[in-house]
Amino acid sequence: MKLLVVEDEPKMAALLRKGLEEEGYAVTVAADGPTGLEYAQTSDFDLIVLDVMLPRMDGFEVARRLRARHNRTPILMLTARDAAPDVVKGLNLGADDYVTKPFSLEILLARVRAVARRGPIAQPVRLRVADLVLDLGTHEAIRGGERIPLTKTEFSLLEALMRRAGQVVERAALIEAVWGFEKDIESNTLDAFISLLRSKVDHGSRPKLIQTVRGIGFSVRMDRDA
Ligand code: CA
Repeated sequence: MKLLVVEDEPKMAALLRKGLEEEGYAVTVAADGPTGLEYAQTSDFDLIVLDVMLPRMDGFEVARRLRARHNRTPILMLTARDAAPDVVKGLNLGADDYVTKPFSLEILLARVRAVARRGPIAQPVRLRVADLVLDLGTHEAIRGGERIPLTKTEFSLLEALMRRAGQVVERAALIEAVWGFEKDIESNTLDAFISLLRSKVDHGSRPKLIQTVRGIGFSVRMDRDA
């Protein structure tokens, strides 16, 4: 079993490494958010132990980005405060379980065993808004029972919008979800793809589902005026 531990406090990281290695796990440690994210994406781990309070990018953001990129590795979050909102936020963003600091090593090891045993998390298979269905398993978009042929980029864009259906997704968030944050994408490239997507998804159909929120971003939702 390969474990990634993302923890910035050297003492805590050393304690975790020692305890987990004694249990027979192979442990890799990352000391900040971006490094943890990079390791998680470039290597296959069976489980990620992810601290919330991290330099440069917190654990919530690491979890959100991993799940947005379809990384299904189970995540056990370490939260310093047992404040309920933190726990709920972590679980909503894709963490599988959490342990509140300070914790005993015994408890942490028990949670690691339980989460690791469950294996990769299940993905929601279908996203739905009105009569538009996006099947993440088969990579098909269907509207009113008709299959809509989409390119890989168009599919990713529609998925990013439909995962947050009813909300406004900011332009930068869409660009990151579709092209990744490393890439320089012109703003009008996004507009061009939105327009392509609109011509396929909304053309000849009512209600129009892809909405422009001027100056902010886009939204997939039922148009109140339609
Ligand atoms: Ca920390």
